[in-house]
Amino acid sequence: MQTYWGIDLGGTKIEGVVLSAPSPDAVVVRKRIDTEADKGYGHIISQITKLVGLLKAETGYQPEHIGFGTPGTFDPARQVMKGCNTTCLNGMPLPQDLEKTLGVPVSIANDANCFALAEATMGAVPEVTPDFRVVFGVIMGTGVGGGVVLRGKDGQSFVQNGLQGIGGEWGHIILEENGYPCYCGKRGCNEQVFSGPALQRFYQDLSGESRKLKEIVERHDAGIDPYATQTINRLLENFGRAISVIINVLDPDAIVLGGGVGNIDLLYTEGVERAKKYVFNEGQLNTTFLKPKLGDSAGVFGAALL
Ligand SMILES: [Zn+2]
Repeated sequence: MQTYWGIDLGGTKIEGVVLSAPSPDAVVVRKRIDTEADKGYGHIISQITKLVGLLKAETGYQPEHIGFGTPGTFDPARQVMKGCNTTCLNGMPLPQDLEKTLGVPVSIANDANCFALAEATMGAVPEVTPDFRVVFGVIMGTGVGGGVVLRGKDGQSFVQNGLQGIGGEWGHIILEENGYPCYCGKRGCNEQVFSGPALQRFYQDLSGESRKLKEIVERHDAGIDPYATQTINRLLENFGRAISVIINVLDPDAIVLGGGVGNIDLLYTEGVERAKKYVFNEGQLNTTFLKPKLGDSAGVFGAALL
């Protein structure tokens, strides 16, 4: 029997799944263990090995291939990991080490790519536009990331990782030349404008008060707080500008908006209206904007589909 094995490597938890088919209803087993990242790179490899052992024992199956969703990306040119917030992974040849230790071929993609792949093939997209050619999936949360999913002539969907492994890295498009400094070394990236923390910081700078994004949205909706309204306007306008760049380049059939910020209803109405102003299409915009279907499972399911 063909099985699909996926591991989602997170900073605090490592989650593994075995699917009997590419469907959220085909979970054979699913397990989580602690990453214990503070114990270093070697320990993470042995935790992964332990988890794979547990999945084998529980299912009685052997993997032929394992897909991994990771923070950061694998740099195909230098053959090492980069940009991981679990910093002990950076500079390490993770896929090679995993293949050596686990004795099976592995594929690696970052978590936003896994999210995009899972939503495109077994989440929000198939019900709405099953014959898609291009899907762009974004995670707008603590950070901002994205992934491009393409479908080949054979009907197989795949992630467009790109020459340097940065395909879909939407979070670091520059929106404000003199904006807040970003950990990537530049200023005014998307992520510094409309990630959850960036919006909360903007609100606090205006009002002198610290509030959660959810509260800021509620205060804007209630029309009781001009600072909240300014913050939400900043989100909508910049979202419109930033997503119009993606639409002009890829013209995807669907865009899935994940993460805590992606859950804000106004993005799907007013946010799309703002995008319409900027897209090179005579004021028309037919792109489908979707809320994700798979919740927290998208990462590990996407890894299994790699
Ligand atoms: Zn940046």
